[in-house]
Amino acid sequence: MSNVPSYLQGAWWAPDAVGVPVRDASTGETVAEVSVAGADIPGAIEYARTVGQVALGSLTFHERALKLKELAQYLNGRREELYEVSARTGATRGDSMVDIDGGIGVLFTFGSKGRRELPNANLVVDGPPEVLSKDGSFLGQHVYTRLPGVAVQINAFNFPVWGMLEKFAPAFLAGVPTIVKPATPTVYVAEAAVRAIVESGILPEGALQLISGPARDLIDHLDYRDLVGFTGSASTANALRAHPNVVHGGVRFTGETDSLNAAILGPDAVAGTPEFDAYVRSLVTELTVKAGQKCTSIRRAIVPSALVDPLIEAVTARVAERVVVGDPRAEGVTMGALVSREQKAEVLTRVGELVAAGGEIVMGSLDEPEVRLADGSTGLAPDGAFLQPVLLHFADALAQAAHSIEAFGPVSSVIGYDTVEEAVALAALGGGSLVATVATHDPDVARTVIEGIAAHHGRTLILDRDDARSSTGHGSPVPHLVHGGPGRAGGGEELGGIRSVFHHMQRTAVQGSPAMLTAVTGQWFAGAPRSLDGPHPFRKSLAELRIGDAVASPLREVTLEDITAFANSTGDTFYAHTDEEAAAANPFFPGIVAHGYLLVSWAAGLFVDPAPGPVLANYGLENLRFVTPVSPGDSIRVTLTAKKITPRETDEYGEVCWDAIIHNQDDEIVAAYDVLTLVAKTWPTTA
Ligand code: NDP
Repeated sequence: MSNVPSYLQGAWWAPDAVGVPVRDASTGETVAEVSVAGADIPGAIEYARTVGQVALGSLTFHERALKLKELAQYLNGRREELYEVSARTGATRGDSMVDIDGGIGVLFTFGSKGRRELPNANLVVDGPPEVLSKDGSFLGQHVYTRLPGVAVQINAFNFPVWGMLEKFAPAFLAGVPTIVKPATPTVYVAEAAVRAIVESGILPEGALQLISGPARDLIDHLDYRDLVGFTGSASTANALRAHPNVVHGGVRFTGETDSLNAAILGPDAVAGTPEFDAYVRSLVTELTVKAGQKCTSIRRAIVPSALVDPLIEAVTARVAERVVVGDPRAEGVTMGALVSREQKAEVLTRVGELVAAGGEIVMGSLDEPEVRLADGSTGLAPDGAFLQPVLLHFADALAQAAHSIEAFGPVSSVIGYDTVEEAVALAALGGGSLVATVATHDPDVARTVIEGIAAHHGRTLILDRDDARSSTGHGSPVPHLVHGGPGRAGGGEELGGIRSVFHHMQRTAVQGSPAMLTAVTGQWFAGAPRSLDGPHPFRKSLAELRIGDAVASPLREVTLEDITAFANSTGDTFYAHTDEEAAAANPFFPGIVAHGYLLVSWAAGLFVDPAPGPVLANYGLENLRFVTPVSPGDSIRVTLTAKKITPRETDEYGEVCWDAIIHNQDDEIVAAYDVLTLVAKTWPTTA
């Protein structure tokens, strides 16, 4: 049997060496062999840093985001063949969907977020500028630029596709090439997914490489330009984190390791409530999906002491009713095998330790189970890695083992508590976890628990009757939100929307004059030159409009009659605009003042060029601040300057953000805001 190929430097490669056999989780049959003896790892890293960097750097965020979307659509069409491969790891169709569809979902999310939340450029301006001199001639601005190295993934066995794509999508969007090193037991699934990706032809050269085997020397070749995203055991994470290139060489290391995630049942969530039922459903789901081999599974069910027995009964009943353990290729199987006999042995050892530390098995057993075989019959399958769901109960809630030993399989411990404060303290004994659920419909309980446990967790879920049906679930990280957790969970942070893109970028403070910051970032800064000559900027299509193109209006006087008329026509007769005495008594106003909205409306009238033209729509205002009140008899003028131009890749128009500033007759700032418009890429009358 030949080794699972790697995809290195734009070509498939496999060594002739005899590899480590990887077996079908249900039958024990050899699926593949794994070795990367002789692989040119330094060459792959260099290829990413050169070919990959150049190819990705020639694309903008929006272009890369579109490729992610295209890839997601393509992989959608190849799911069935991936499910088939995935079944060999013991995964049911449902498990495979979590892995494969979940991974594709991440691509879709970043494909969309990248175009909505990032500029159509290669540099991100981070927040507003800091004005560092009195006259405004010296500014500081944080910017993000992509890291010049490679994003290396070292992945766990449990989600060979999702684990790869959830790290790949933000790296790719940032413009950083990726090298994936999957875990050996399921490397052939990652290989099948990478093969499909390569066949799609969508990704630029060097954007993705695959090392299908141990490659223990990977980090030896990395430096401060590179990052490592690790998922797996805490012990491996600690070993890798101590690598000299991480400690001394500046390699950025993100760890996502095992954790003893808790689910707290609120004191109000007694048997018969929707919260109790939702909790039971969630616990059984987390025990059985991927046979409990999920970093986010519930390992500790922390429940009111009085509800321990009802909970165990309810979980046992649901498992008996719903769970059919067996070969995922057999009809009706709802829980598959563990990934390997070795992993099963590991889980049995951990459960043995939990029992020795006072845990009592109250559901399931460690015996070789009778399971549904591929042909639909029932029997023992000693060459497979099957285990029944197991529930333990710890009479001593403080037993150290219950909070520190993770059996990475279909295993959870039930732990009783007496007060909410005690439940919070028990959850924290996990020493830092990825996720915790609290099932409660009592806002006070929710507040107390979340305030108490938030800093120990990367994500929390408040489960109640209102969201039980719509919730994405305890165990499902979503691309929009942070995945990772402090302490034992590894201390890393993945996903979290565009945050995870910034993990692959360097934040740098750039100091200089407004003109220089405008030139460097492609965004106009107050104080930089404006262009007030030539046609009105509303007559210019995106092809002609330039950053700094501006229009400045003459002054217009505001009278008491204008203010009164505006109050009457809008119904906004707030006393500051209608009652001289009351307005004067207000500490902020000298007497009656103009409505802020009147000023903004007038400003539009002052800057607009009304004839049909390339400006298609005004879709909002941002950052509006009213600074100086305007009294009857004052005058205002407005200056509008093209600040940011974002052409859309797939539309015939783009977004233009205009800096708007209203001054009074004394040149004081009355109001400042951004006007958001859609502008055509070309316009007949200006072409
Ligand atoms: P490991 O920590 O053994 O392996 C994880 C990854 O690290 C694999 O790709 C592995 O490669 C690689 N690796 C191991 N040692 C080295 C090394 N010295 N240098 C470079 N890479 C290395 O975890 P497992 O996947 O075997 O799972 C074991 C435990 O990890 C589970 O029982 C569970 O507790 C935890 N886990 C946590 C997960 C999470 O998402 N947080 C997910 C899965 C597991 P290779 O496979 O080729 O040896």
